[in-house]
Amino acid sequence: MSPAPSRATNLLYRDLHGRDPELVVGAKGSFLQLEDGRQILDACAGAAVASIGHGELRVISKIAEQLSTLSYHHTSRLTNPAAEKLAKILVGDRPGGLSHAIFLSSGSEANESAIKLARQYFVEIGQPDRVHIISRHNSYHGNSIGCVSLTGIPSRRRHFEPMLIPTTSRVSPCYPYRYQKEGESDQEYSQRLADELEQEILRIGEGKVAAFFAETVVGAAAGNLVAVPGYFQEIRRVCDKYGVLLVLDEIMCGMGRTGKLHAWEWEGMTPDIQTIGKGLNGGYQALSAVLISERVVEGLKSGSGAFANGQTFQAHPAAATAGLAVMEIFESDGIVANCASRGKELYNGLLSTLGDHPHVGEIRGRGLFLSLEFVVSKATKSTFPLSLPLAALLDDAIFNKGAIIYSGFGKGTADGIVGDHILLSPPLSITSAEVQLIIQAVKAGIDEVFATDR
Ligand code: PLP
Repeated sequence: MSPAPSRATNLLYRDLHGRDPELVVGAKGSFLQLEDGRQILDACAGAAVASIGHGELRVISKIAEQLSTLSYHHTSRLTNPAAEKLAKILVGDRPGGLSHAIFLSSGSEANESAIKLARQYFVEIGQPDRVHIISRHNSYHGNSIGCVSLTGIPSRRRHFEPMLIPTTSRVSPCYPYRYQKEGESDQEYSQRLADELEQEILRIGEGKVAAFFAETVVGAAAGNLVAVPGYFQEIRRVCDKYGVLLVLDEIMCGMGRTGKLHAWEWEGMTPDIQTIGKGLNGGYQALSAVLISERVVEGLKSGSGAFANGQTFQAHPAAATAGLAVMEIFESDGIVANCASRGKELYNGLLSTLGDHPHVGEIRGRGLFLSLEFVVSKATKSTFPLSLPLAALLDDAIFNKGAIIYSGFGKGTADGIVGDHILLSPPLSITSAEVQLIIQAVKAGIDEVFATDR
């Protein structure tokens, strides 16, 4: 029998196998402080959450002030100033016709609400046959049954398969490192993937598909897949051709992380519905949002006039205040511009120190949202055996060198090959000196793991 773990909070692999997680007792700026006194550089901002770093008193004081003024109200007939201001910042002067925001607590709730919103929209406009949702392999959309139904990671699905929403299916992601053919141009690859989506829509039946869900930049599920130029425009075209709503999940990749506020701003098109979370709240409160285009709002107005989706803690004043304070710091401290500059430093630094490493297949991503994918051989792009928990070994080694990274989900799924990868997503407020510390820790960790023959 394995030794009983002394912590009682998690039921994760480590805990079940008696490897207790370390206790973290404090955090300031880009560093976490462990119980034993070690300072660890937060090279993943939790899970791409701590966008402005930890312990920011400008946010904390505003939350305290909000709680002492108005700690809670229900949203059935009331709203609060912080939520209203925040909504204006998020949808205000953005191109693309996003006009409303619904505030929830987690990314999963936001995506679950987006599923329901897409469905209700079509009922309201008199197209009730549209019940099907298409998403992509190698994707993660959250924890609830609806979100798992869209998620394209077999290990996250398999225990729950019989209970998942049957009217869902998946097509290929845009994963150029592994799936763009030799000599195939970006335009041809985009076209091929758009054709696959079109074929899937036709297979389900015209007038039967409600929405296509995609992460604008795939995060933990496959290690920072940035679409080739033109891909999302092709996808937008196919969605429009068949009246399908385009829902972009920017829970992880959004809110400045790619060097623009919304990741879709790189792509020359706009979504009908967008979900955000994580960096929006910076980790100070639980806050996510669904951003909704006028087209969808008009659809609801023309029907019942109300979205049938309310939650007790929706638009919580303290959470909305945290989001607003984080957005104010984005503005005053030039956080998105810092992300773009530090992102280039991190990418270039990783490339110059690790680009020639025999097992680093690709270093990719955008802004401060970067991954390294590992291969046995660069020439064949072959992956390490499923039995070798490479990402976890790298995670441990880099942690012991002083930085915490995100090791993402598994590899080699039934949906296709995904190499082992590690993900870097430090606070967007990170300094150049801290970027260098990340590069040193990552290099030292990788060298240590590959010092043993794998
Ligand atoms: N969507 C994406 C792309 C995510 O990365 C996550 C979380 O990692 C979620 C949705 C779910 O968010 P949450 O864990 O806040 O429910």
